Amino acid sequence: MSLEDFVEITEGKTKLLVPSLSLSNKVPPKVPAFFNPVARLNRDISILVYKTFIMDVKKDRRTFGDPFGGVGARSLRVAVEIPEVEHVFVNDRNIFAIDAARKAATINLVSDKCSFTSEDVIAFLANHSSEKNERFTVVDLDPFGSPAEYVDCLLRAVVKGGMVSVTATDTAVLCGVHPNVCKRKYYGRSLHSSSYSHEIALRILISLIVLTAARLDLVVHPIFVHLNHHYIRVYMTASVSRSGANSIDKKIGYLRDCIKCGDRNAAFELERDDRCRLCGSAYRFAGMLWLANLFDKHFVSNMICILDKGDRPGPVRHMRKTLSTCLNELDDIPFYFQSDEIASRLSTNPRSLQNIIERLQSSGYTASRSSLDPNGFKTNAQINQILDLLARP
Ligand SMILES: [Zn+2]
Repeated sequence: MSLEDFVEITEGKTKLLVPSLSLSNKVPPKVPAFFNPVARLNRDISILVYKTFIMDVKKDRRTFGDPFGGVGARSLRVAVEIPEVEHVFVNDRNIFAIDAARKAATINLVSDKCSFTSEDVIAFLANHSSEKNERFTVVDLDPFGSPAEYVDCLLRAVVKGGMVSVTATDTAVLCGVHPNVCKRKYYGRSLHSSSYSHEIALRILISLIVLTAARLDLVVHPIFVHLNHHYIRVYMTASVSRSGANSIDKKIGYLRDCIKCGDRNAAFELERDDRCRLCGSAYRFAGMLWLANLFDKHFVSNMICILDKGDRPGPVRHMRKTLSTCLNELDDIPFYFQSDEIASRLSTNPRSLQNIIERLQSSGYTASRSSLDPNGFKTNAQINQILDLLARP
């Protein structure tokens, strides 16, 4: 294997050396190195998040750590497109990937601000987790599959006041397809085939990171999240606070879900033989999971400002639309309803989300879209109230 198997492409403002097969094959191969061209939007969003975050960080030296760095697609973009970041640490076990990353850093004239290693991920994070050695201002965890086994090391490698970003691609596990795996990796139970399983998945992942952090007297809080069918991605700030770590019992809990009537609600504790408050059937439950907000709305507004300022990474219109949905989302409600689900309960055609939201609001309920599902809406109305309202002509 040699660098001849790699070709140069431009993503954002950055030149990358990527395996030529990753551009031609339907599924990008792992040999000689992994690069997923379709994940460009994911990386565009991350550049915008990091840029927004790093501008407010008051530190002498702002650094970025990338333990699963691959060919450097994310970290080289950070080095080139976020000048406020002083140093980028790229690590990958695959030496072909790291060679390509190193060469691309030279092409982009950012070699001075990049370090390259080919260590085991745990060792790389451990090497950056002491006072003496540098902890990262921002550290990203983007493994194949579950991030669960790395969360401890990740949280030890971030500076207080810094940020971690975490990707999970084991969405089937988090959505409840393999309940035993979900329980042992994430300490949570999901609801398979529920209409809002993606939000449950996301909140189970956040809960694992929050609980792990609390063990280390750290408080982490989501400031931005996004997902699609293939991955879930969360951005969380980290700070030290024992009292903050103690307050997680007000943020972690369960969802109760009634298959029969469609009722769903949050609870901090589960009671034995819990029955649906509307129809009396037995509830299913999901959790432990995160019950508090998903977004820091002030942060999301700042992201929109940076996007609008013109220094634009990626397809702006799509990102602008997603961000404004996040900004208006009732993200303290930990579930949503789908328009088709309501239509099927009413045996009618689905109404537009716009129409549903306007009807709910004009009847005095809160209502918003969900950024996690183009078909989803959030409301403080209960299922019986929603059905009653939408059954009217
Ligand atoms: Zn019920």
